[in-house]
Amino acid sequence: MSKKLKIIILLIVVIAVGWGIGKYTTPSPSASDSSGSNINVQDDLQAKPGEDGNSTEEGITDPVVANPSNTTDPSDPSEPDNDGKGNSTDDSFKEPDSIAVMVNKEYGLPENYKPTDLVYPEVRFTFKEKIEKRMMRKEAAEALEKLFAGAEEDGIYLAGVSAYRSKETQTRLFNRYVKKDGEELARTYSAVPGYSEHQTGLAIDVSGSDGKCAAESCFGGTKEAEWLAQHATEYGYIIRFPEGKQDITGYKYEPWHIRYVGKDIATYIADKGITLEEYYDVVPVSK
Ligand SMILES: [Zn+2]
Repeated sequence: MSKKLKIIILLIVVIAVGWGIGKYTTPSPSASDSSGSNINVQDDLQAKPGEDGNSTEEGITDPVVANPSNTTDPSDPSEPDNDGKGNSTDDSFKEPDSIAVMVNKEYGLPENYKPTDLVYPEVRFTFKEKIEKRMMRKEAAEALEKLFAGAEEDGIYLAGVSAYRSKETQTRLFNRYVKKDGEELARTYSAVPGYSEHQTGLAIDVSGSDGKCAAESCFGGTKEAEWLAQHATEYGYIIRFPEGKQDITGYKYEPWHIRYVGKDIATYIADKGITLEEYYDVVPVSK
């Protein structure tokens, strides 16, 4: 009897020890696995914001690289949405120095932002003076020269009305409009300082060479406006505030206001008939 009891106790001990060993040995490999993968995940997460923060190039190249792959399948409208949201470089549109930066009533520029590569594009303007509003960022200026030359080949003579605008100038303008029309109305046609695309040096208001209807709604329907609507994308420009998109862009139709974004994005936007806001899949700007 006592022998049987000993055997039972021994069995219990063996089982208990076996269970104990099992308990401590089985989790350890999985624990080290998961801690290993945790480290990897953290490395990835730390690496990406670091790269984004350090490289301004990324803001420029990523949207350009990301979307031409979509242009091969323009039948699927959900693709840019997925791309915009799934991409860790989602914030590239906030890079003030990116040629693809998005500025609107919701997304402003950093305090006192000024582009560092402003030049005078060699094109006709409605005025002679070499002043601030004649300037644009280098890449946009070169594209504008080609655009004006291309228009002339088609017998269309354009003139620049207003390009770069510093925050100080925008402040003066906006305050003048507020005095004249009140703030609510002024906001529908003029940007609050720091929220004007003209401050990026990538946008320009264009008219016919006679300067008639410069930055006015009567420019719509002119042969110059039609030429711009048809050909601006060939030079990397878009009509930034298209007709019928006020709920998204926050601005009424401005057929004279063109914005440089580079050929890839411009072509994509024009092919789809969308706005820069829709391209980046951001919340519509309603006011
Ligand atoms: Zn404008």
